[in-house]
Amino acid sequence: MQPFAIVALVLILARAITELWLSQLNQRHVRAHANEVPIAFRGVIDDATYRRSVDYTLAKSHFGDVANLFDVMLLIAVLFSGVLPWAFARFSATFGTSIPAMAGFLVSTGIALSIPALPFAWYAQFKLEERFGFNTTTMKTWIFDRVKGLLLALLLGYPLLALVLKLMVWTGANWWLWAATVVIAFQLFLLLVAPAVIMPLFNKFTPLPKGALRERLFALAQRTDFPTRSIEVMDGSKRSRHSNAFFTGLGRFRKIVLFDTLIAQLTEPELESVFAHEIGHYKKRHVLKLLGVSIAGVFVAFAAIAWLARQQWFYRAFGFEHQGGFAAASVVPAMLLFALLAGTISFWLSPFIHTWSRRFEYEADAFARATMGEAQSKSEQSHSAPALQRFLLLASDPSRTRTRAAIRSALDTSAATPCALVACRESSLLARELTELPPRLN
Ligand SMILES: [Zn+2]
Repeated sequence: MQPFAIVALVLILARAITELWLSQLNQRHVRAHANEVPIAFRGVIDDATYRRSVDYTLAKSHFGDVANLFDVMLLIAVLFSGVLPWAFARFSATFGTSIPAMAGFLVSTGIALSIPALPFAWYAQFKLEERFGFNTTTMKTWIFDRVKGLLLALLLGYPLLALVLKLMVWTGANWWLWAATVVIAFQLFLLLVAPAVIMPLFNKFTPLPKGALRERLFALAQRTDFPTRSIEVMDGSKRSRHSNAFFTGLGRFRKIVLFDTLIAQLTEPELESVFAHEIGHYKKRHVLKLLGVSIAGVFVAFAAIAWLARQQWFYRAFGFEHQGGFAAASVVPAMLLFALLAGTISFWLSPFIHTWSRRFEYEADAFARATMGEAQSKSEQSHSAPALQRFLLLASDPSRTRTRAAIRSALDTSAATPCALVACRESSLLARELTELPPRLN
């Protein structure tokens, strides 16, 4: 085994072990507080609901561990079995090394590698979510979602990749600066058009109907000087009973979206405070800040790929031949390997990213409280965990473990406005679920 292959293997295993350990720590903490509703949530959720949310959190976390282990084994097999250089050689021999062919190789490898995750996605939706009464997705919707996602990836991803590879040939050594710029421009364009063009492919959006709620929310928008033309309702109930709210788009395309499930589950004052929380994200410029980080991330990623493409040891570690130069075929292995390994490195940044995103949530909560008046505030002292544990808990991936909110509720001394009870998602492309306590079961 090449020296860097050993380094990569150690890093992958270190991440996997850390994630599993954190997950166990989370589960233990959740179990330890399973029998008593945290003070901050008393009066907001009842014992039976809390108990169910504990069971759900544990089941989800356990499933996450299994999926995680599978991912790690698959990654190790793909990286170290020699299947990638073999596939690359076969593909090049059959289709050549032209730019369209190389972009095709990247896209088809990406699709092939996403197939093993399908049974897990199916299980999560139709077994796990179903068991707790959250699933409303039909098999037909689920399959159509996958097909639509695949077509979008082909339609948008393939031309973009081909353009990036073409830039390499056109611009030489500085190709990565051009490539990053083009990718960012493309992301911004998507951010603009996604609410109008892409999101309606998956869900139906309708303006919030005239009535007391609509008047109330528009009055709040006016009071907080939030320029919005539309508040829309999304048929989230098509897929799940989970509720959510988010705002999306830039400039005049901006809109606030409430799930129909959210409207069904919350009272008008609660909805108003969810809305105020979303406006808080805008007022505190969170979308711009996240966008800034994501732009910096694209530049770092392309700089890393350009650098790795010049390193013989990097190619050799995974069985590729190093040719050098700026032909598509010589850089494509570096792109593929980078895509596979990036998560192993970025994982170690996640405590900082999560600390940051939690701060955003608190800022938005604080804005909501200030706007709504102290009547909405339920700030109380709660159990507090040691600082180290708190920091480590932040490292666990929120979208996978879903334990954070249960822990947040147990650990945090800060407020539980009703909006802390619903999952809050930022703009579609910077999507992240930030609070994950399961919503009240009807
Ligand atoms: Zn939020």
